[in-house]
Amino acid sequence: MKFLLVRPHAHLPTSKWLQSMITLEPYAQELIASAILPPHEVEICDLILPENPIEFFKETLERFKPDFVGFGGFSSQFNANKELAGITKKVLPQAITCLGGIHSSSYPTGCKFPELFDLIVRGDGVSALKIIITSLEKENLLPESEWILQPGSDNFDELASKSPPAIKRDGIDAKPRRDLVDSSKYFCICYGEKGKKSKTLFPQIACVRTSVGCPNRCSFCVVHFLANGKYMQRTAEEVVDEIASLPQEYIYFVDDETFINTKRLRRIAELLIERNIKKKYLAWARVDTVCKDPELFVLWKKAGLEFLYVGFESLEEGALDDYNKNATPAQNREARKILADLDFNLHAALMVHPNFSKQDFLIVQKAIIEMAPSEFAFTVYSPPPGTQEFLESKDKFICDDPCLYYDCIHTILPTKLPLKTFYKYFSILYLKGSAYIPARTNKIRVPLKDFFRVLIGAIKFGWIVKRMYRRYDRKYW
Ligand code: SF4
Repeated sequence: MKFLLVRPHAHLPTSKWLQSMITLEPYAQELIASAILPPHEVEICDLILPENPIEFFKETLERFKPDFVGFGGFSSQFNANKELAGITKKVLPQAITCLGGIHSSSYPTGCKFPELFDLIVRGDGVSALKIIITSLEKENLLPESEWILQPGSDNFDELASKSPPAIKRDGIDAKPRRDLVDSSKYFCICYGEKGKKSKTLFPQIACVRTSVGCPNRCSFCVVHFLANGKYMQRTAEEVVDEIASLPQEYIYFVDDETFINTKRLRRIAELLIERNIKKKYLAWARVDTVCKDPELFVLWKKAGLEFLYVGFESLEEGALDDYNKNATPAQNREARKILADLDFNLHAALMVHPNFSKQDFLIVQKAIIEMAPSEFAFTVYSPPPGTQEFLESKDKFICDDPCLYYDCIHTILPTKLPLKTFYKYFSILYLKGSAYIPARTNKIRVPLKDFFRVLIGAIKFGWIVKRMYRRYDRKYW
């Protein structure tokens, strides 16, 4: 059989813009491809890359003629996946179509389109595909369970109401099939080291996953729901072997939360140092971990950690409690100081709530100054599709299909301020934040073309955000 694994193109202008700054390899598709062994054949079709993704997809279908087409992606890409599945059914009516990824895992009932998808996979795609292949090889039948759903089956609703199983050991230990993609196409904005010259702001980068899931329960995050509350980890030795095998200088840890198990992370850093592996790393960390074990970050600085993404969300006590962040503003401040003293480049994520007043936006402006220098990202609180809060908010949504707007920048809930004013203040946050990006404050010398790419990109993004209100019904403006 021939398998085609598809990463869909971006749908929202904000997501398309983000891709101009960070385009990571299709890691989920690479992991899932590891489940397909000879004599079966597999290709990855990464639609983020071509200028005309639909044409490219049709050409791939006509050239490769897959028997099975698997789609993945975020909730905001669901329409793109529907369109691609529709094309598949037209071009290759016999092909099996399967939808996996975050959207199908968290909100399977919203994916019940039997004319488009033969299967819906929730959670661990690697182990699921192994089961699908075995079932097709043995009986030429499609499997059915609460994990692998058939939208055309009478059992769909009952099975979809049950929880998906947690990721299996097979899923966490899968080796990504990087040979199926052109690694030179993937990059991430990085700011180099303080005072040094940087060859580029957009180095090629590889992804490495050391764990799946998170023991925390932040209200805006779907991770614990997807991982069924579990936190699964790879051994330090396996992680370091994988890093050592990669040609790229930069490594992005694509964990949901990397530093939770400080003992394991200490071992990984020690091994990287012992084995003299000289690379640079980007990772997400929680402030409570930083405060609890600052020495771990001293060690990681030595190992090459350069860029830390931190979800501070707010410097207001009540807000952090509302988001169930399990951290305090004092920890936010302390963690920022620890990381700034170690000269890490910081990405600070701060959250805006739809019920924000002008005063609340001014408070965030003050937080920018307090948390600088940093690459700032501002998100708008939205209940994730599939969660109880999402279902309870159903009557409040201000867009026809909230899933398609779910990118953490588009609000799906009504705003207290008129939308035009809300997004004006929201774009001002980005404008203020851009004055403190590490490239500027670190005085890193970068090629002029990269400097202009960031500058023009920032202006473009500000323009997109300021005009975002236009994507909603006029009554909300
Ligand atoms: S710590 Fe991060 S990954 Fe974990 S629940 Fe919170 S936002 Fe999600």
